[in-house]
Parts: sequence; C-alpha cells; structure tokens
Amino acid sequence: MGAASQPTQGTDQPQSTRGPTTRTTPEPRSRSSGGRVRPSYSVLRTRRVENPPLDTVAEDLQACLQPPAIATCMNPDCSQECRWPKGRGRPPLFHDRLCHEKYHLIRMRLLAELVDIDSALNREPPPASDERIYLENQGARRRWLLLRYPDLAPEDRKE
Ligand SMILES: [Zn+2]
Repeated sequence: MGAASQPTQGTDQPQSTRGPTTRTTPEPRSRSSGGRVRPSYSVLRTRRVENPPLDTVAEDLQACLQPPAIATCMNPDCSQECRWPKGRGRPPLFHDRLCHEKYHLIRMRLLAELVDIDSALNREPPPASDERIYLENQGARRRWLLLRYPDLAPEDRKE
C-alpha cells in the first residue's frame, strides 16, 4: 500500500513562498507617528501595563491602525464594495437592492431544498444506500454554500 499515505509535496498550506503577507508593526517606540503605519490595537494594549485599564480603550482605539471603512457586498457572487457611512445612517450590507434580493432568494432556496433533503433522508422506509449517499452529498453541498449566506434577519427587519 503506501501511495496514499505518503506526505507528498502538495499541501494546501500557503507556504511562505510569496513574500511578506502579514505585516506586524516593528516599531517599539513610535515617536509622534508622522504619517507612519499605526500600531494595531493589540500592540497598543500590550504596551500598557499587564491589565490595561478600561478607561484607555477609547484612547487606544483612536490611536491604533483603523479598521477598513470598505467591505465587500454580502452577496457572495458580487465583488462590489460597501462603504461605512461617513455620518449617521445605516451601514449597507449590500451594494445595491438587487444583491439584497438575490441573497435572500438564494438563501431561501437553499434552505427549502435542505428541508426536503433532510426529510427524504429521514423517511420510512429509509432510502437505499446509493440514494442516501447522493442525498447526503447534496445536503452537504448546500450547507457548504449556506455558510456564505448567514442569517441577516435582525439587520433586515429594520428595513
Ligand atoms: Zn453587490
């Protein structure tokens, strides 16, 4: 036997062949950060005493590297971006109305199919093994897709 259990070259791990991807902030003492990259929040916290006081959280958040104000549209098929609002106003989850509708349509469809798949798997008498394997595979595929379609209901209800 053996061929299957050999540790061949191709692991899925992205090895460090392509330069620095993670950039930590190697500045032990930043002197009045003149346009430099700000340290991350966790770095600022660890620079403080062992248990950083909570009344410094806001201060460190202001000083740290800011989180992005742009995120991709929640529709997994879309590559457009959503922007955190400058003033008030609800932060958008979808870049437009159509993506919002598509998201819910596809999500509902996958969920409905899953209900039928699970019912078919649990029926009496139970499905033969070929059919069961097929159904399980189809169910797993939908669950895999559904990971990209989390329940956004609390957000949507406000609409
Ligand atoms: Zn979109």
